[in-house]
Amino acid sequence: MAAPDVIIVGGGVIGCAIAYYLAQAGVQVTIVERGEVGGEASGASAGLLAPLELTVEHGPLHDLCLASLPLHPPLADTLREETGIDVEYLRSGILRVALSDDAAADLRALVESQPPEGVMEWVAPEALRGLEPRLAAARGGVYSPQYHQVNAHRLTQALAQAAVARGAALRQGVAVTGLVTSGSRVTGVRTGEGGMMAGQVVLAAGSWTAGLGRRLGVSLPVKPMRGQMLAFPDFSSPLRHILLGKDGGYLAPKANGFLFVGSTVDDVGFRKNTTVKGLAGLRRMAATLVPSLAYAEVASDWAGLRPGSPDGLPILGPVPGWEGVSVASGHFRKGILLSPITGRLMAQWLTQGKSDISLEAFRPGRFA
Ligand SMILES: Cc1cc2nc3c(=O)[nH]c(=O)nc-3n(C[C@H](O)[C@H](O)[C@H](O)COP(=O)(O)OP(=O)(O)OC[C@H]3O[C@@H](n4cnc5c(N)ncnc54)[C@H](O)[C@@H]3O)c2cc1C
Repeated sequence: MAAPDVIIVGGGVIGCAIAYYLAQAGVQVTIVERGEVGGEASGASAGLLAPLELTVEHGPLHDLCLASLPLHPPLADTLREETGIDVEYLRSGILRVALSDDAAADLRALVESQPPEGVMEWVAPEALRGLEPRLAAARGGVYSPQYHQVNAHRLTQALAQAAVARGAALRQGVAVTGLVTSGSRVTGVRTGEGGMMAGQVVLAAGSWTAGLGRRLGVSLPVKPMRGQMLAFPDFSSPLRHILLGKDGGYLAPKANGFLFVGSTVDDVGFRKNTTVKGLAGLRRMAATLVPSLAYAEVASDWAGLRPGSPDGLPILGPVPGWEGVSVASGHFRKGILLSPITGRLMAQWLTQGKSDISLEAFRPGRFA
């Protein structure tokens, strides 16, 4: 078999999105995933296509989010046609809810400041009840209809399958243990099953990217940030919107009838367990927003490791000091939202040496 043009290390949403857009451009690509596609952060994700911070600052990350948002609906349609997988795109809209006068004042000030996020409508307390009858007595809220959601695991699977349908190879259960180099060039990867050569290698290994960088003597400071979540079965009178409480806690009614409650942000290294304290905090936050959930039984809980970066920006582009190797990681809480634009820009950069949107602010060399 001929060597692929590009090997992608990591079958999360980022690696699979890059593979999808590369395969679309006619590139021979192989995804090497040590577990299963979507088996780490991407499969654990809530799948919100929205910023979770109260305000989003103008800047390169904000621009990247805005560029990615409109790519999702047509991508969902194309993926359904090409793979039969429904990524469960839901136009839920987000309601940020203020339960105290202080929180309401903050939200009002936010609306009046006309943030760069697009539509934000102030919703008075009585109107809030009409939008979400199960909501706790609130002082008001802000509605942003432009923020939607997907099933993150299905999105990752669909990107991988669509890439395969376009000729990509997928090697699951194969861990990359090192990189093959020749002078200052990376020419392939080492795996438990032997070496694989390629014209280009892309490190899209999520929280494990730093370890691969170390093998090249380069700092790619991606750090795992654990997120815990739980799900309630919520079939009888499901919520209609994504509800955002304080401190970034959220309730997301998914297409399959489950209500996702997320999420903690824990700096505990590679420990991927849930904790009694973390889950209790999520339950409390959920019941504060929707009191009837105080008595609901939890259907499942889980945790995943988000790839964080020191400055909160993704790390995208060539690995400094080396040829033939680039990185796409560090998407932290926005990897699902940013997956189409990351896939598209990385594929452009790999095939043309330039991209529609500059990757300068995200370049891996900024940590040198
Ligand atoms: C609880 C939680 C909720 C979230 N909610 C949202 C949300 O609502 N919206 C949003 O946009 N984002 C959300 N995120 C963040 C989002 O999930 C991540 O940013 C995104 O999944 C990162 O994708 P990735 O492909 O970089 O990493 P991963 O999905 O972790 O994929 C990396 C892959 O690389 C593989 N790998 C690692 N090392 C090797 C190796 N040596 N050889 C081969 N394979 C290797 C791993 O097995 C893994 O499958 C959430 C994350 C969590 C944990």
